[in-house]
Amino acid sequence: MPASSIDWHARAREVLIDGRSLIDGQRRNAQSGETFDCISPLDGRVLGQVARGRAADIDAAVTSARTAFDDGRWAHQPPVARKRVLQRFADKILAAQEELALLETLDMGKPIQYSLAVDVPSTARCIGWYAEAVDKVYDEIAPTARSALALITREAIGVIGAIVPWNYPMIMAAWKLGPALAAGNSVVLKPSEKSPLTALRLAELAVEAGLPPGVFNVVPGLGQEAGEALALHMDVDAIGFTGSTRTGRRMLDYAGRSNLKRVYNELGGKSAFVVFDDFDDIARAASTVAGSMFFNQGESCNAPSRVLVHETVADEFVARVVAEAPQYAPADPLLAGTVMGALVDDTQLRTVMGYIDAGRGEGAVCATGGRQARSDSGGYFVEPTVFDRVDNTMKIAREEIFGPVLGIQRFKSEEEAVRLANDSAYGLQASVWSHNINRAHRVARALRAGTVHVNQYDEDDITVPFGGFKQSGNGRDKSLHAFDKYTELKTTWIRID
Ligand code: NAD
Repeated sequence: MPASSIDWHARAREVLIDGRSLIDGQRRNAQSGETFDCISPLDGRVLGQVARGRAADIDAAVTSARTAFDDGRWAHQPPVARKRVLQRFADKILAAQEELALLETLDMGKPIQYSLAVDVPSTARCIGWYAEAVDKVYDEIAPTARSALALITREAIGVIGAIVPWNYPMIMAAWKLGPALAAGNSVVLKPSEKSPLTALRLAELAVEAGLPPGVFNVVPGLGQEAGEALALHMDVDAIGFTGSTRTGRRMLDYAGRSNLKRVYNELGGKSAFVVFDDFDDIARAASTVAGSMFFNQGESCNAPSRVLVHETVADEFVARVVAEAPQYAPADPLLAGTVMGALVDDTQLRTVMGYIDAGRGEGAVCATGGRQARSDSGGYFVEPTVFDRVDNTMKIAREEIFGPVLGIQRFKSEEEAVRLANDSAYGLQASVWSHNINRAHRVARALRAGTVHVNQYDEDDITVPFGGFKQSGNGRDKSLHAFDKYTELKTTWIRID
């Protein structure tokens, strides 16, 4: 049914929240009996109670995952059998699309039209894509002398701890689950305490699809409790982490303090969007940056938050971005036409407003926005905000804001543009806008980022790797390369007499 023909408020009033963990195929309360409030950023109301998992709950989930892995109930199934189960899982996600979309919007604030048209289908597509891939990936034979046969094979690692953020709760979980489960691993997923609901529902759907108990467990809880316990656990073989660079550092520390588990970090970004004066459609560049920056309330790791524009076209560019802003005015996320929703919580709202104050304090010019919005709703909304005359040394140019705040800088030469773009601790994504084919290639090569977009932004699908250079992380989600994170490479050298 199209989003516009559904009364989402009526459905929201009837929504049932089950916040219990899912361990070994069963819903369970936290062993301590503790819960935490699940608060909706739409209006600040408590949606329900969620199990506050701690070390004992994580231990139970890891034990279940380990048992499932060791007895081969999933890992030893032929790839084609794993494929069928994961395809059914993807189908069930699509069949539950309205329920999942509503939970996602209520839990983290994004507009319902995007939960329905982007988050749910992308999640199903990701699971389905790895299902399809797993019986088409071959291993290798090394080019040795005739006296040997050397097999290079990939094996599932074992128990994967997946720790994910709140900005795309289902999609980030799927980017871990798809390749990890397809490869035969068992998974313990710790969703963000700010958005645990869809992960729990996904785990139920996986069980209904025929995934054996213990193969996919979800334990909600706080980062410093359940998250830390999972990352420190001696029986977890790898951590697939997506979140802030601050927490990513901790993941490396946890691994060092425990069993040297593999750590794959997908972290923050401050992606540069470089517009040259030879790009003749400034209106398109401006509408693209507004669309990508304000999508998901600016809470995207790859948001193009650092615009660098040639000084001769900068005034026109700024004027056009400012003219785009009103169409992103925050509105009720449960209305089908809304394009910008609520920030995830009060803490994030205060963080974003703090950055806006810092931008003004450091001398950037607030060209539009800059204020909290819809305060009377009880929710956490911020206007789409554009700062002009930003300097790359300013806090708003150096730190990830994770809200709808765009900063625009001006440059004089290609060399200066590349230097400014690369002058960042992050290296997740970048883009270059130029009609000069030599310049476009030259700058794309020079930009230090995991993905470089040329004359577009955000065009993307599951077939390409996603991840960052520098402090944006290591390893890659999506594409066949994601199997690298969830498999070990084994050499078997056989002598032939
Ligand atoms: P976060 O680091 O605060 O939390 C991420 C997860 O880590 C949550 O599940 C949280 O509970 C857990 N956690 C927090 N503290 C922990 C601790 N001490 N020990 C163990 N676990 C802990 O990040 P966030 O605010 O949820 O997410 C936003 C961040 O995620 C941004 O920096 C964004 O750029 C990044 N992100 C990156 C990508 C990517 O693919 N590179 C994608 C989405 C989001």
